[in-house]
Amino acid sequence: MKKVKNKRIGPVLQVMTVFPLVLCAVLVYIFGSISFKKTIYKEVEKELKNVSQVVTLTDSVLYPGTYHLEETDNGGYALYKGDRDITGMNEIVDAVKERTGLEVTLVYGDTRILTTITDKSGNRIVGSGIPDSLVNEIKNSAEPVFYKRVYIGTKSYFACYDPIAKAQDDTTVAIAVAKPCDKVDRSVEQSLIPFIYADLIAVVVAVVIMFLYTGRLSNFIGKLRVFLMEIAEGNFSAKLDSTVLEREDEFGDIGRSAVRMRTSLKTLIENDALTGLLNRRSGENRLKQLMVGKKAGGSSFCVSMCDIDFFKSINDTYGHDAGDEILKTVGRLMSETMHNIGFASRFGGEEFLLVFDKADIKTAYATLVGFQERLRNTVVKRNEDEIRVTISIGLVEGNSDDSDALLKSADDKLYLAKNSGRDRIVT
Ligand code: GH3
Ligand code: MG
Ligand code: MG
Repeated sequence: MKKVKNKRIGPVLQVMTVFPLVLCAVLVYIFGSISFKKTIYKEVEKELKNVSQVVTLTDSVLYPGTYHLEETDNGGYALYKGDRDITGMNEIVDAVKERTGLEVTLVYGDTRILTTITDKSGNRIVGSGIPDSLVNEIKNSAEPVFYKRVYIGTKSYFACYDPIAKAQDDTTVAIAVAKPCDKVDRSVEQSLIPFIYADLIAVVVAVVIMFLYTGRLSNFIGKLRVFLMEIAEGNFSAKLDSTVLEREDEFGDIGRSAVRMRTSLKTLIENDALTGLLNRRSGENRLKQLMVGKKAGGSSFCVSMCDIDFFKSINDTYGHDAGDEILKTVGRLMSETMHNIGFASRFGGEEFLLVFDKADIKTAYATLVGFQERLRNTVVKRNEDEIRVTISIGLVEGNSDDSDALLKSADDKLYLAKNSGRDRIVT
């Protein structure tokens, strides 16, 4: 037979159930956090656009008129809104920053004219430029343009550039509102923490439940397996754990069927089909086991061989079926007689072995006398016929270590009983 690897189903079950669970939790986290981030980014976009529009509105109310550049006395340029030089008037952007926490910049063409953003040394980055690609995009757009990552210096920002007006020279003037990316990312991370904990707790609870459940299941399978293996080895006294038998599911069914199978096999192998008594092999084995125990304990026991008298003539007269009926009746009476005091075994055709456990020869003799009496008075009815039988018995005390010798001795006494007239006991 092919050698089967001694693998266990428990760990396989655990991996098969836990792996998809963990995978599922990881996927939920990944897709959940991506969609959460998207939502947050959308919110930031909305916030920046709103603020840029408020700034635009405030700006046009406070300083009406169009934007234009004018040369200054020192050869530089100043940006005018209407007749007011707004160069250096950072109060309005500062006020917005104070209320919203957002960085605000007024861009003229590619140059920052007013801004709340400062460099490392704390100076406003007024006069610094924005990339050409950005300028072009803003110039050609009628709507505010949103960027997820714009680098100003070494810092990255979410930024919204709102083209608010055209200066007299057709240069685009825009309001830029920005929020540092690290600030947004930090708040995303913080918002995700409870979600991560919930996800983790759910996974841990599910994994623990799975482990416990699959562990128990594999434990039941293990018990069934050991039980079936013992039966396969021929150990019919193997016991199946009650925890398996008490289950109400398929495992319980398998367990109960296995126990029934053991009982059926045991009966088939150990018992005689006609009388239900132990068969010869089991009778001899039981006797040997008993003798091993007795050797250690030293208490007495008795062995007797019995043979139905003139049984052949019963068969000849009433038929084989009637003979079987007699055998069954004798078997039943023997079984009742030996109940709690020993055991009976069908040794051959109409020959039986009776073993008295814990009985001296006097007690055994008295019991056998009673049994013979009962048998004599027992009538087996077949159609019109009333059949009675008697039995001859040889009885010996268990005073030998050798079971064969003991059986031979009991058989000799039985022979004597037959030869001295039958229906009697010889000891
Ligand atoms: P004795 O008193 O000397 O024992 O005579 P007997 O006729 O009982 O002995 P014998 O050995 O001559 O015959 C035994 C008979 O038992 C022969 C056989 O056909 C019958 N027998 C054996 N097994 C069975 C069985 O299973 N069923 C039936 N009906 N008869 C059986
Ligand atoms: Mg006989
Ligand atoms: Mg015989």
